[in-house]
Amino acid sequence: MKNFYKLSDLESWTEPPEEIRLGVLGQPVAHSLSPPLQNAALKEADLTMRYARFEISPNELARALDRCAALDFAGVNLTVPHKVAGFSLVNECDAFAQQVGAINTIRFVAGRMRAANTDGPGFEGGIRESFRTELRDLRVLVLGAGGGAGRALAAQCVLTGCARLALANRTFEKAQALAERWNRPGIFAVPWREISSGKALREVDLIVNATPLGLHPNHLSPLPAHLLGAQHLVYDLNYRPTALLAAAAEAGARTASGLTMLLHQGALAFEFWFERDAPIAAMRAALGL
Ligand code: NAP
Repeated sequence: MKNFYKLSDLESWTEPPEEIRLGVLGQPVAHSLSPPLQNAALKEADLTMRYARFEISPNELARALDRCAALDFAGVNLTVPHKVAGFSLVNECDAFAQQVGAINTIRFVAGRMRAANTDGPGFEGGIRESFRTELRDLRVLVLGAGGGAGRALAAQCVLTGCARLALANRTFEKAQALAERWNRPGIFAVPWREISSGKALREVDLIVNATPLGLHPNHLSPLPAHLLGAQHLVYDLNYRPTALLAAAAEAGARTASGLTMLLHQGALAFEFWFERDAPIAAMRAALGL
């Protein structure tokens, strides 16, 4: 199997090669860990199909989804930057995806596209696995709350009953719109320039980075180490080392990367496609967890 395929491949195939019937559509997509995760699950479940990466630009998304349906795919995942755009292209969404306005999983059924958002519940499962604690018991600061993943996490925090939720986003209006939409005590928007002042960290247990910030060696941590302490849990959706996780570890905080969320959102996607339990042990092993 190639590292990734393109729309031109989908358009030239009459039959996908190597039993490909599932995939992740994104840009960039080359480093997605969903193929090893889902291929381990397919093998363990004795399903003779494979999962591949597809590099698809925003203006190609609708055509790519049509081709996947025509090629009899079981389903796809959507990743950056397609989660919000995908929402308006599908025929049906689960209740959580409706709340969030973004999707990450599509199932093709008799020419129709059914969608779900497994990022929110996958995040909750990731927090439980990484920190042995329940999301509902935590006061949370989400960095990047206005992005596709950040919105899902914020919705999960609200629906699960977190008592305090600080929403920070570079484009402040998006965080403000979210806070106004939920309109509940304890939920408020924080201007991006204020997060390094420390005010946003008052009465916060869990800090979540839902931005790509920190992945590049030139990126600085959005929060300096001196604002972080041993009382904090710091979770970074990115699954490679980031400046935030390094600063948090330096400050004595408990830290975890997004691998556990990747695992749980992937297990829920598998269950959405196949209506059977995901082989979670094989999936966990595929990620080295
Ligand atoms: P997205 O929809 O493109 O959102 C990106 C978010 O990051 C937005 O809030 C954006 O703010 C913010 N942002 C981008 N560059 C920034 C910068 N230089 N400074 C400050 N904020 C910045 O992406 P997404 O789908 O939510 O994904 C976000 C990250 O989470 C990605 O790195 C992705 O790989 C990761 N992720 C991991 C998992 C997992 O299972 N572990 C699942 C989903 C996503 P604006 O609104 O101002 O643009």
